[in-house]
Amino acid sequence: MSNVIMETVSKLTEVVPQSEDYMGEDGLLYCGKCRTPKQQYFPEWVRIPGMDRHPVDCDCERVLRLKREAAELRRKHQSVVEEHRRRCFSNKRMESWNFENDNGNTPQMDYARRYVQNWDKVQSDNIGYYLWGDPDCGKSYLAACIANGLIEKEVSVRMTNFTAILNDLSERFEGRNDYIEYLCRYPLLIIDDLGTERGTEYALEHVYNVIDSRYRSGKPLILTANISPDVLNNPPDMAHARIYSRILEMCVPIHVTGVQNRKAAAQRKMDTLKSMMNEMVSND
Ligand SMILES: [Zn+2]
Repeated sequence: MSNVIMETVSKLTEVVPQSEDYMGEDGLLYCGKCRTPKQQYFPEWVRIPGMDRHPVDCDCERVLRLKREAAELRRKHQSVVEEHRRRCFSNKRMESWNFENDNGNTPQMDYARRYVQNWDKVQSDNIGYYLWGDPDCGKSYLAACIANGLIEKEVSVRMTNFTAILNDLSERFEGRNDYIEYLCRYPLLIIDDLGTERGTEYALEHVYNVIDSRYRSGKPLILTANISPDVLNNPPDMAHARIYSRILEMCVPIHVTGVQNRKAAAQRKMDTLKSMMNEMVSND
Protein backbone atom coordinates (compact mmCIF):
# COMPACT_ATOMS: atom_id res chain seq x y z
CA MET A 1 0.00 0.00 0.00
CA SER A 2 1.37 3.43 -0.85
CA ASN A 3 2.41 5.73 1.99
CA VAL A 4 -0.32 8.27 1.15
CA ILE A 5 -3.06 5.63 1.34
CA MET A 6 -1.55 4.19 4.54
CA GLU A 7 -1.55 7.64 6.16
CA THR A 8 -5.16 8.33 5.13
CA VAL A 9 -6.38 4.98 6.46
CA SER A 10 -4.36 5.47 9.62
CA LYS A 11 -6.00 8.87 10.25
CA LEU A 12 -9.47 7.38 9.68
CA THR A 13 -8.84 4.63 12.20
CA GLU A 14 -7.36 6.93 14.84
CA VAL A 15 -9.23 7.74 18.06
CA VAL A 16 -8.15 10.72 20.11
CA PRO A 17 -8.39 9.54 23.74
CA GLN A 18 -9.94 11.81 26.38
CA SER A 19 -8.18 12.16 29.73
CA GLU A 20 -10.59 9.79 31.52
CA ASP A 21 -10.42 7.07 28.80
CA TYR A 22 -8.46 3.87 29.50
CA MET A 23 -7.11 0.74 27.79
CA GLY A 24 -9.19 -2.38 28.43
CA GLU A 25 -7.87 -5.90 28.99
CA ASP A 26 -8.60 -6.64 25.31
CA GLY A 27 -6.17 -3.87 24.28
CA LEU A 28 -8.94 -1.53 23.05
CA LEU A 29 -9.59 2.02 24.18
CA TYR A 30 -12.57 2.38 26.55
CA CYS A 31 -14.66 5.47 27.38
CA GLY A 32 -14.02 6.67 30.94
CA LYS A 33 -17.62 7.85 31.28
CA CYS A 34 -19.77 4.94 30.05
CA ARG A 35 -17.04 2.24 30.22
CA THR A 36 -17.85 0.83 26.76
CA PRO A 37 -15.26 0.47 23.97
CA LYS A 38 -14.38 3.33 21.61
CA GLN A 39 -12.64 0.91 19.25
CA GLN A 40 -13.31 -2.43 17.58
CA TYR A 41 -10.89 -4.88 15.94
CA PHE A 42 -11.12 -5.41 12.19
CA PRO A 43 -11.91 -9.01 11.20
CA GLU A 44 -8.66 -11.04 11.21
CA TRP A 45 -8.44 -11.29 7.42
CA VAL A 46 -8.22 -7.52 6.89
CA ARG A 47 -5.90 -6.70 9.76
CA ILE A 48 -2.58 -5.10 8.88
CA PRO A 49 0.17 -4.74 11.47
CA GLY A 50 -0.27 -1.38 13.18
CA MET A 51 -3.79 -1.03 11.70
CA ASP A 52 -5.95 -3.68 13.31
CA ARG A 53 -8.78 -1.57 14.76
CA HIS A 54 -11.29 1.15 13.88
CA PRO A 55 -13.24 3.66 15.96
CA VAL A 56 -16.79 2.94 17.17
CA ASP A 57 -19.22 5.03 19.18
CA CYS A 58 -19.16 4.28 22.89
CA ASP A 59 -22.63 4.24 24.51
CA CYS A 60 -22.64 7.93 25.45
CA GLU A 61 -21.45 9.00 22.00
CA ARG A 62 -24.11 6.80 20.40
CA VAL A 63 -26.83 8.48 22.49
CA LEU A 64 -25.51 11.91 21.48
CA ARG A 65 -25.38 10.89 17.81
CA LEU A 66 -28.95 9.57 17.90
CA LYS A 67 -30.09 12.81 19.55
CA ARG A 68 -28.32 14.86 16.87
CA GLU A 69 -29.86 12.75 14.10
CA ALA A 70 -33.34 13.03 15.64
CA ALA A 71 -32.97 16.82 15.94
CA GLU A 72 -31.87 16.98 12.30
CA LEU A 73 -34.91 14.91 11.22
CA ARG A 74 -37.21 17.19 13.24
CA ARG A 75 -35.64 20.26 11.66
CA LYS A 76 -36.07 18.83 8.14
CA HIS A 77 -39.69 17.83 8.90
CA GLN A 78 -40.41 21.30 10.26
CA SER A 79 -39.05 23.00 7.19
CA VAL A 80 -41.11 20.71 4.88
CA VAL A 81 -44.23 21.45 6.97
CA GLU A 82 -43.63 25.20 6.87
CA GLU A 83 -43.16 25.14 3.10
CA HIS A 84 -46.39 23.10 2.63
CA ARG A 85 -48.26 25.50 4.94
CA ARG A 86 -47.03 28.52 3.03
CA ARG A 87 -48.21 27.03 -0.28
CA CYS A 88 -51.53 25.77 1.13
CA PHE A 89 -53.22 28.89 2.45
CA SER A 90 -53.81 32.28 0.89
CA ASN A 91 -55.34 33.31 4.21
CA LYS A 92 -52.50 33.25 6.77
CA ARG A 93 -54.96 33.05 9.69
CA MET A 94 -55.85 29.51 8.63
CA GLU A 95 -52.29 28.32 9.31
CA SER A 96 -53.22 28.07 13.00
CA TRP A 97 -56.63 26.46 12.48
CA ASN A 98 -55.68 23.03 13.76
CA PHE A 99 -56.94 20.34 16.14
CA GLU A 100 -54.84 21.70 19.04
CA ASN A 101 -56.49 25.14 18.78
CA ASP A 102 -60.03 23.77 18.27
CA ASN A 103 -62.49 25.30 20.77
CA GLY A 104 -64.74 22.22 20.70
CA ASN A 105 -67.72 24.14 19.29
CA THR A 106 -68.07 21.96 16.18
CA PRO A 107 -69.53 18.50 16.90
CA GLN A 108 -68.43 17.16 13.48
CA MET A 109 -64.70 17.66 14.15
CA ASP A 110 -64.29 13.89 14.39
CA TYR A 111 -64.89 13.66 10.63
CA ALA A 112 -61.80 15.82 10.16
CA ARG A 113 -59.71 13.69 12.54
CA ARG A 114 -60.79 10.46 10.85
CA TYR A 115 -60.07 11.92 7.42
CA VAL A 116 -56.49 12.73 8.43
CA GLN A 117 -55.99 9.41 10.25
CA ASN A 118 -57.26 7.41 7.26
CA TRP A 119 -55.66 9.55 4.57
CA ASP A 120 -54.18 6.60 2.62
CA LYS A 121 -57.60 5.00 2.36
CA VAL A 122 -59.57 8.19 1.53
CA GLN A 123 -56.93 9.08 -1.04
CA SER A 124 -56.95 5.69 -2.76
CA ASP A 125 -60.77 5.57 -2.71
CA ASN A 126 -60.93 9.24 -3.80
CA ILE A 127 -63.31 10.28 -1.02
CA GLY A 128 -64.04 13.99 -0.58
CA TYR A 129 -66.27 15.90 1.79
CA TYR A 130 -69.03 18.37 1.06
CA LEU A 131 -69.11 20.38 4.30
CA TRP A 132 -72.28 22.40 4.39
CA GLY A 133 -73.99 24.56 6.99
CA ASP A 134 -74.88 28.09 8.03
CA PRO A 135 -72.29 30.84 7.62
CA ASP A 136 -69.70 30.78 10.41
CA CYS A 137 -70.70 27.30 11.64
CA GLY A 138 -67.09 26.09 11.66
CA LYS A 139 -66.96 24.35 8.26
CA SER A 140 -63.94 26.35 7.04
CA TYR A 141 -62.22 25.71 10.37
CA LEU A 142 -62.94 21.99 10.05
CA ALA A 143 -61.57 21.95 6.49
CA ALA A 144 -58.44 23.88 7.55
CA CYS A 145 -57.91 21.34 10.37
CA ILE A 146 -57.84 18.60 7.73
CA ALA A 147 -55.34 20.65 5.70
CA ASN A 148 -53.08 21.32 8.69
CA GLY A 149 -53.37 17.72 9.92
CA LEU A 150 -52.28 16.36 6.53
CA ILE A 151 -49.54 18.96 6.18
CA GLU A 152 -48.11 17.64 9.47
CA LYS A 153 -47.91 14.28 7.65
CA GLU A 154 -46.02 16.10 4.86
CA VAL A 155 -48.96 15.81 2.45
CA SER A 156 -49.21 18.73 0.05
CA VAL A 157 -52.64 20.44 0.26
CA ARG A 158 -54.09 23.58 -1.35
CA MET A 159 -56.95 25.44 0.34
CA THR A 160 -58.47 28.27 -1.66
CA ASN A 161 -61.90 29.57 -2.74
CA PHE A 162 -63.68 30.18 -6.02
CA THR A 163 -63.48 33.97 -5.74
CA ALA A 164 -59.65 33.69 -5.67
CA ILE A 165 -59.63 31.03 -8.41
CA LEU A 166 -61.84 33.16 -10.68
CA ASN A 167 -59.64 36.21 -10.05
CA ASP A 168 -56.54 34.19 -10.92
CA LEU A 169 -58.21 32.84 -14.06
CA SER A 170 -59.45 36.23 -15.23
CA GLU A 171 -55.89 37.58 -14.99
CA ARG A 172 -54.70 34.91 -17.40
CA PHE A 173 -55.69 34.94 -21.03
CA GLU A 174 -53.28 32.13 -21.68
CA GLY A 175 -52.24 29.44 -19.29
CA ARG A 176 -55.67 28.87 -17.78
CA ASN A 177 -55.38 25.15 -18.33
CA ASP A 178 -51.93 25.18 -16.71
CA TYR A 179 -53.41 26.92 -13.69
CA ILE A 180 -56.21 24.35 -13.35
CA GLU A 181 -53.69 21.54 -13.84
CA TYR A 182 -51.55 23.06 -11.09
CA LEU A 183 -54.56 22.98 -8.73
CA CYS A 184 -55.19 19.36 -9.69
CA ARG A 185 -51.62 18.31 -8.91
CA TYR A 186 -52.20 18.73 -5.17
CA PRO A 187 -53.06 15.38 -3.52
CA LEU A 188 -55.87 17.23 -1.70
CA LEU A 189 -57.68 20.34 -2.95
CA ILE A 190 -60.00 22.23 -0.61
CA ILE A 191 -62.26 24.93 -2.01
CA ASP A 192 -63.92 27.09 0.58
CA ASP A 193 -67.28 28.87 0.28
CA LEU A 194 -68.74 27.45 -2.91
CA GLY A 195 -71.60 29.67 -4.09
CA THR A 196 -70.27 32.98 -2.78
CA GLU A 197 -68.49 33.72 -6.08
CA ARG A 198 -70.25 35.66 -8.83
CA GLY A 199 -73.00 33.55 -10.40
CA THR A 200 -72.44 34.69 -13.96
CA GLU A 201 -72.41 32.26 -16.85
CA TYR A 202 -68.66 32.92 -17.18
CA ALA A 203 -68.06 32.15 -13.48
CA LEU A 204 -70.18 28.98 -13.54
CA GLU A 205 -68.29 27.75 -16.59
CA HIS A 206 -64.98 28.08 -14.73
CA VAL A 207 -66.38 26.55 -11.54
CA TYR A 208 -67.48 23.57 -13.61
CA ASN A 209 -64.08 23.38 -15.33
CA VAL A 210 -62.21 23.30 -12.05
CA ILE A 211 -64.52 20.71 -10.44
CA ASP A 212 -64.64 18.57 -13.57
CA SER A 213 -60.84 18.67 -13.95
CA ARG A 214 -60.46 17.65 -10.35
CA TYR A 215 -62.95 14.83 -10.97
CA ARG A 216 -60.94 13.63 -13.94
CA SER A 217 -57.67 13.82 -11.96
CA GLY A 218 -59.05 11.07 -9.68
CA LYS A 219 -57.94 12.97 -6.58
CA PRO A 220 -60.13 13.99 -3.63
CA LEU A 221 -61.82 17.37 -3.29
CA ILE A 222 -63.24 18.98 -0.17
CA LEU A 223 -65.78 21.76 -0.57
CA THR A 224 -67.45 24.01 1.97
CA ALA A 225 -70.74 25.73 1.18
CA ASN A 226 -73.99 26.90 2.68
CA ILE A 227 -76.02 25.16 -0.01
CA SER A 228 -77.91 22.13 1.32
CA PRO A 229 -77.72 18.73 -0.43
CA ASP A 230 -81.46 19.17 -1.21
CA VAL A 231 -80.53 22.03 -3.53
CA LEU A 232 -77.69 19.96 -5.02
CA ASN A 233 -80.26 17.27 -5.80
CA ASN A 234 -82.69 19.83 -7.25
CA PRO A 235 -80.52 22.28 -9.17
CA PRO A 236 -82.14 25.47 -10.51
CA ASP A 237 -80.74 25.12 -14.05
CA MET A 238 -78.45 23.10 -16.31
CA ALA A 239 -75.33 25.15 -15.49
CA HIS A 240 -75.71 24.30 -11.81
CA ALA A 241 -76.92 20.77 -12.50
CA ARG A 242 -73.65 19.63 -14.07
CA ILE A 243 -71.59 21.22 -11.27
CA TYR A 244 -73.72 19.68 -8.53
CA SER A 245 -73.81 16.26 -10.12
CA ARG A 246 -69.99 16.11 -10.09
CA ILE A 247 -69.94 17.25 -6.46
CA LEU A 248 -72.43 14.57 -5.41
CA GLU A 249 -70.30 11.97 -7.16
CA MET A 250 -67.05 13.03 -5.47
CA CYS A 251 -67.98 14.31 -2.03
CA VAL A 252 -69.77 12.88 1.00
CA PRO A 253 -72.14 15.56 2.39
CA ILE A 254 -71.61 16.43 6.05
CA HIS A 255 -73.87 18.89 7.82
CA VAL A 256 -71.67 21.09 10.01
CA THR A 257 -73.63 22.48 12.94
CA GLY A 258 -71.00 24.28 15.02
CA VAL A 259 -71.85 27.06 17.43
CA GLN A 260 -71.32 30.21 15.44
CA ASN A 261 -67.76 31.32 16.10
CA ARG A 262 -68.65 35.00 16.14
CA LYS A 263 -71.43 34.38 18.65
CA ALA A 264 -69.08 32.25 20.76
CA ALA A 265 -66.40 34.97 20.67
CA ALA A 266 -68.97 37.62 21.66
CA GLN A 267 -70.14 35.38 24.52
CA ARG A 268 -66.55 34.89 25.75
CA LYS A 269 -66.01 38.67 25.76
CA MET A 270 -69.25 39.16 27.68
CA ASP A 271 -68.19 36.51 30.25
CA THR A 272 -64.78 38.19 30.70
CA LEU A 273 -66.44 41.58 31.17
CA LYS A 274 -68.88 40.13 33.73
CA SER A 275 -66.09 38.56 35.78
CA MET A 276 -64.13 41.86 35.64
CA MET A 277 -67.20 43.71 36.91
CA ASN A 278 -67.66 41.16 39.71
CA GLU A 279 -64.01 41.58 40.75
CA MET A 280 -64.40 45.34 40.83
CA VAL A 281 -67.50 45.04 43.04
CA SER A 282 -65.81 42.59 45.43
CA ASN A 283 -62.69 44.82 45.64
CA ASP A 284 -64.77 47.86 46.69
ZN1 LIG B 1 -18.89 6.93 26.53
